[in-house]
Parts: sequence; C-alpha cells; structure tokens
Amino acid sequence: LADRLQSTIKKITGKGKVSEQDVKEMTREVRLALLEADVNFKVVKDLIKRIKERAVGQEVMESLTPGQQVIKVVKEELTALMGGEQSKIAVSDRPPTVIMMVGLQGAGKTTTSGKLANHLRKKHNRSPLLVACDVYRPAAIKQLETLGEQLSMPVFSQGTEANPVDIATEALAKAKEEHNDYVIIDTAGRLHVDTDLMDELEQIKAKVKPDEIFLVVDAMTGQDAVNVAESFNEQLDITGVVLTKLDGDTRGGAALSIKAVTDKPIKFAGMGEKLDELEAFHPERMASRILGMGDVLSLIEKAQENVNEKQVKELEEKMRTMSFTFDDFLEQMGQVRKMGPLDDLISMLPGANKVKGLKNAQLDEKQISQVEAIIQSMTKQERQEPEVINASRKKRIAKGSGTTVSQVNRLLKQFSEMKKMMKQMTNMQKGKKGKGMNF
Ligand code: GDP
Ligand code: MG
Repeated sequence: LADRLQSTIKKITGKGKVSEQDVKEMTREVRLALLEADVNFKVVKDLIKRIKERAVGQEVMESLTPGQQVIKVVKEELTALMGGEQSKIAVSDRPPTVIMMVGLQGAGKTTTSGKLANHLRKKHNRSPLLVACDVYRPAAIKQLETLGEQLSMPVFSQGTEANPVDIATEALAKAKEEHNDYVIIDTAGRLHVDTDLMDELEQIKAKVKPDEIFLVVDAMTGQDAVNVAESFNEQLDITGVVLTKLDGDTRGGAALSIKAVTDKPIKFAGMGEKLDELEAFHPERMASRILGMGDVLSLIEKAQENVNEKQVKELEEKMRTMSFTFDDFLEQMGQVRKMGPLDDLISMLPGANKVKGLKNAQLDEKQISQVEAIIQSMTKQERQEPEVINASRKKRIAKGSGTTVSQVNRLLKQFSEMKKMMKQMTNMQKGKKGKGMNF
C-alpha cells in the first residue's frame, strides 16, 4: 500500500497549486492502493468520497501548501476510519474487571490473554487472574498455564471435563477471594464461525457479564478478518478488537475496514509472539505507516522503554528543530540494536520502505556495522553538517571505513530523506486523550 501511495504523494507534495485533476488522480491512486490492500469495497468508496469532497474544498485549494493539505486530508480520513482515538481499557467500579477474549482458532487469543495480563501488571500495577475456558483441546489449557508460569501469574483451570460457563463463574468467585482485580477469560475458538461456539460464548457472557469483550483477529487474514469481526460483533456485541500479527502484515487492510464495518475500536495490536509484544493501537500512527511515512512515534515509544526519558526528549526536540545529526543517528543505531529484532524496528523508521535494501527488512548486522563505520570515519563537522561532504571527503570516508563511495552516497541520501520525513512527521498533530484508563 505504502509503495503505491509514495509516488503519488511525492508528485503532489511539491506542487504549489493543486488542480481538480490532481485531486482526481490522487484519489484514484489511493482507491487502487486501498483495494489492493484488501480493504472492504464499500469502505473504500465512502472514504474516497469524503477525501474528494474535502480535497477540492476551500480548506485545501486556498491553502499555501495544497499538496501537503491533500496528504493531511487523506491521513485524517484514514485515521478517522480506524477510530480516530487511542485505546482505553475498562475499569469496573466493582472489581474484578472482567475481560473476555473471543475469536477464531489460531487468531491469538491465548497469547494475547497472556500479553494483556502482563501489560496490566507492568503498566497499571494490577493483579490479573487468567482463566482457561478452552476445554476442547488439552493443549490449550497447558498453553495458558505455561504462560502463567512464565509470568508468575495465577491461572484458573478445571481440566477438560468441566463446563466453560461453570469455569468462568467459579473463576470470578476465586478472583474475589484472592483479590485479583482483573479476570481474563481465554475462550475456545473454531476454524470458522459456528453456532455451537457462539452459543457457548453467549452463555459465558450472560453469566459473567464481562466489562470488555475483546475480539482477537489475525491481521494477516485481511478481508476475512473483517467478515469474522462482523459476525462476532452481531452475536456478542464486542467492545473492542485486538489485531494480532500486525508484525507480519504490511498491507493494513484489515485495520482499515474493521472499525468501519463493526463500529468497534481496534484497541490493541499484537506485534510478535513474545509476551511484551502488545501495543496500544494508534489509528493515527497506523495511518502514517500506511502512508509510508514510518511509525516514528511508535519507535519513540518503544525507545522510551529502553532508553531514558531524557534521551527521548532530546531526540524529539532535535526532530522538531531539525538539528538531528549523524552523531544522533549513530547513537540511535546503538539504541536500535539494544531494542531487539531489527526488522520491525527498521520498518518503523521513516522512509524505511523507500530505501533499497531495507525493503524486505533485510538490513543485516553487516550493513549496520558498515553504516556505523562510515559515520565513525566522518569528522565532527561532517557529522553535524553533512552538506560539507564533497567528493574528496567522500573518498576519504570510504577509505577510512572500508566501504565504497557509493555506499557513502547511499547513506548520505538516506539520512537526508530521513530528515525530510521527520519534518513531515513532526508537523502532524498528536492524538487526543479521552475517558477511561489509558493503555
Ligand atoms: P488462539 O488459538 O486464538 O488461542 O491462538 P494462540 O494464542 O494459540 O496463537 C496462535 C499462534 O499465533 C501462536 O503460534 C502465537 O505465537 C502466534 N501469535 C499470536 N499473536 C501473535 C502476534 O501478534 N504476532 C505473531 N507473529 N504471532 C502471534
Ligand atoms: Mg487458545
């Protein structure tokens, strides 16, 4: 999706004036890109209609930078389509707060149950009780128990003989006794939506009256995910969606349609198999990501957990004032290394999908070391003012770092693109805050 939009965006951002013809061309590209990304047809139609209306309106045509205004409109509409606001999680007045996890088999319910429990404890100092209600496969109970062990958290289970409705009921009583303030119920899934499954889930719901019903859907299933969301929502009136495996989904189609079709917010995003790989879903950032500008804000947030607050503040400030230098870049690379799997981090960097070689997240350790070597071969002045790097300096740097002039050139180009992207990113607004507990 991003690739396709990139070229159109590039064409339009430089323009001083936008004609209706430009807008038409742009929306056509957006439309194709969305359909290609497996976004629901009707959703695309509505979206394009709104973008067109706004883009040919005064707001855009009479502004000083119409090209950027069009992008802004597209981004705002994409954001609105995905819910417009940041995720919250219910807090019951009368603890425990009950969260019921539902979804098809393999969607990631059990994993996400563990991730949520981990998050509630880590970020909100809560003590959740995990409940194993998938009694159809012994392995499912074991899986949740193993997660509980890893987290040193209690798991309530009664084997495969008990009835899921009873298990859930008794788990609630147990949670009250043990002062667990959250109860996370992991339910069974099927390969397809069927009435038996829905009946059982409805019974559990009626009995435990959950504060949240989170539908867990696999983002990789694209349009199917949307259909699944629609039927679960009809039957159970879910309160929110967790989109899993977003780490493997580059298209973002499911994210775009689900909110529009169910009118329920996507609250969280699963970004990997590990227990700390759950993030709040930020529609605005997802929109940026879809537009190919890189998810700088998520990167900053991730960095925040590993880097100290002050460093992050400095980085943000530098991005705002555009005083980001190669020294900062070098430092960032060090941080990125600390943060773990390179692939997902790189894909969050602005402009990452524009840079050859990064495309399939194939940036390996060797390339990283080369980049580091190149920067280390620069003088202090060169790191701060890369403009001064002329041909003879390039030769010197290449020699000093054991690379080639074309590698040096590539890095310089990448760096300047990155700065450009940062500028665009920082010009965009930040999300609004609403009611409820901030995830
Ligand atoms: P359930 O049948 O709905 O309970 O699904 P599971 O929790 O057992 O997950 C099915 C598979 O998906 C497991 O192999 C998980 O490790 C994997 N999985 C779950 N969430 C994510 C995610 O966010 N990213 C990735 N890459 N894998 C995930
Ligand atoms: Mg499961």
